[in-house]
Amino acid sequence: MRQGQAVANRASALRGAGALAACAGLALLAACSKPQPADNAPFANGEWVDLTHALGPETVFWPTDGDFVHEENFHGHTDGGWFYSSYDLRLPEHGGTHLDAPEHFAEGRETADEVPLSRLIAPAAVVDVSEAALADRDYLFTVEDLAAWEAGNGQLPAGSILLFRTGYDRYWPDRESYMGTALRGAEGVAALHFPGLSPDLAQFLVDEREVAAVGLDTPSLDYGQSADFRVHRILLAQNIPGFENVANLGALPAWGATVVALPAKVRDGSGAPLRIVAFVPEGTPPPAR
Ligand SMILES: [Zn+2]
Repeated sequence: MRQGQAVANRASALRGAGALAACAGLALLAACSKPQPADNAPFANGEWVDLTHALGPETVFWPTDGDFVHEENFHGHTDGGWFYSSYDLRLPEHGGTHLDAPEHFAEGRETADEVPLSRLIAPAAVVDVSEAALADRDYLFTVEDLAAWEAGNGQLPAGSILLFRTGYDRYWPDRESYMGTALRGAEGVAALHFPGLSPDLAQFLVDEREVAAVGLDTPSLDYGQSADFRVHRILLAQNIPGFENVANLGALPAWGATVVALPAKVRDGSGAPLRIVAFVPEGTPPPAR
């Protein structure tokens, strides 16, 4: 046992003795026999919010991509009498709730397995652009949208995960209303209509704010009608990853939540399925709408 460990064990033994002494004064000893949470337990007081769409046959992928495949290897009772189930799964990197690794649009930049945890686990700002975005499928978020958020919350601190809420997750998984079209292939790409960041805003984030990552509740950082994917190119070139098809941002406060966004660690991946959640500490002001 290392010395540090011995000290830690002694400290917890002392804490346990203290708890026992406190319990001795109570009649209900049974209630005291349960392990007590450590004084410094992280995420003790608050609520977890799931920001991830489940993967299934209905999952929305890019019009030129295939679908999610979940193929049964076995599901049932074995000859031995116990239940057993196992599947193969196969999916395009850029559909469902997923990570855009910098390598997606920036040659030689970080791949899915290389994105540092400091960009995936960080305090989150939620900029609510839903009013304009729901009124106009081609809406581009502006520097002014961020300025409006900063007017109420202060300048976006360096190292934050910046999330944009368009409200389009309400349409998931209906392709027509979520992406603007149910067509597949090149024809489908041309008919995409959903909101996204303006290139000016992306450039402002690179030049003036040190964001850890940028996410939103649509299929792409660039809006549906983009033909040159400038927002992707601007952000990913700086190793700023994207989180796309995020869900449930309406449940988060404008500021105060911590996001944990862990992608599958796919070696050389240009992206990866993402499990993204947020912790909202007790007492955080509710979403302002
Ligand atoms: Zn993507």
